[in-house]
Amino acid sequence: MPVIRPPKYVRSVLTALQARGHLAYLVGGCVRDMLMGVHPHDWDVCTSALPEQVCGIFPHTLPTGIRHGTVTVLVEKKQVEVTTFRSETGYSDHRHPDAVSYVGDLTTDLSRRDFTINAIALPADGLVVDPFGGVRDIEQKLIRCVGDPDRRFEEDALRMFRALRFSAKLGFRLEEETAAAIARQAPLAAGLSSERVRDELEKLLLSPQPERIDELIAAGLLDAYLLQRLPEYTSLYRLNAVQRKALFRWAMLCELLEEQGCIRAAEDFLLRLRLDSRTIRCCSDCAAILRLPAPGGPKDWKRLLNRFGTEAAICAARCRDALQGGSSYRALRAVLNSGECFSMKHLAVTGDDLLSLGLRGPALGAMLQFLLDYVIEFPENNRRELLLSLARDSEEN
Ligand code: ATP
Ligand code: MG
Repeated sequence: MPVIRPPKYVRSVLTALQARGHLAYLVGGCVRDMLMGVHPHDWDVCTSALPEQVCGIFPHTLPTGIRHGTVTVLVEKKQVEVTTFRSETGYSDHRHPDAVSYVGDLTTDLSRRDFTINAIALPADGLVVDPFGGVRDIEQKLIRCVGDPDRRFEEDALRMFRALRFSAKLGFRLEEETAAAIARQAPLAAGLSSERVRDELEKLLLSPQPERIDELIAAGLLDAYLLQRLPEYTSLYRLNAVQRKALFRWAMLCELLEEQGCIRAAEDFLLRLRLDSRTIRCCSDCAAILRLPAPGGPKDWKRLLNRFGTEAAICAARCRDALQGGSSYRALRAVLNSGECFSMKHLAVTGDDLLSLGLRGPALGAMLQFLLDYVIEFPENNRRELLLSLARDSEEN
């Protein structure tokens, strides 16, 4: 039995459904987490009630995924996802079911779920319902498909990514048949949408074992995004050396893949994975910084900060420390904390000031750059009057 009990607002959703004669269970990740003694981050309920019945029972609902039978119930300003028992058929595109139909029984609903550990249900009061041996697999730390793994991966190729992601996140092994089916079905991954692959990769990158991306690569699951598979199987272990933050982990991944000749550049790899433009920008700037000689002191850091911005500089410092050891990040932090000027924004004179000195166009831009370089060199001289007279003098000469 779970060590963790669901909070009152979650139980109230289960009991309200039951009071109207419907079956209702907690299901999926929250049950798995509760059984493992981990506090769930969200709560999913499955029920025999149809979506319109769910909407009729609770005063505050959102039709989040009504086409697939999911209604979000709002209770005490919190959310519970309530999904009608359903079965799925078709999967001609290896991604989505061609048809979803509502069913009356829990076991059919559990049988459409990906892994045994995610196919356990728990009623408000009573014992777990576990037709596929998920509790035993949790105890034995195994990721095992519900049913025939080849068929389940043919239905939805993303499940291969999910298998490795759960394995890395929970520290579970892949059951033999499940692992063997991934090796056979990997080519189907090429047809998945980049967004779905990206989201799974990011979750894996943020897991305690991000280096296990190399298993995805070795299996061929990322062939559509790489020039070649990793020549060396264990080169990604350094991913774990950088802080657990999506941006840093993406930047490190790009760096390691580029180093191994698996991608041409961070930018095109991340573009194809449809990462957001800020992450793409930052990772490619980070790569550019890492190609430059290591900063020798505060002035070098300030020049980098001016050219690439704070986020990319921090990212590069973190990556450099993870790759080569050292204290780049500490040095950069000291520069940032010093409050010394490294950008036009913090220069004690503005473009308007220079306009009033009669400077225009390219000459004005060049003067601002000259003053910034000067202030980077002599931070104590970032003073308006002093810079204005410097500008005047150098104009006259
Ligand atoms: P997490 O803690 O990462 O959210 P989770 O188990 O809740 O883990 P979700 O992606 O939120 O994972 O999915 C909720 C549940 O829906 C899963 O536990 C599983 O039962 C089912 N599920 C999700 N995606 C699939 C899929 N592609 N194929 C089959 N079942 C799936
Ligand atoms: Mg979830």
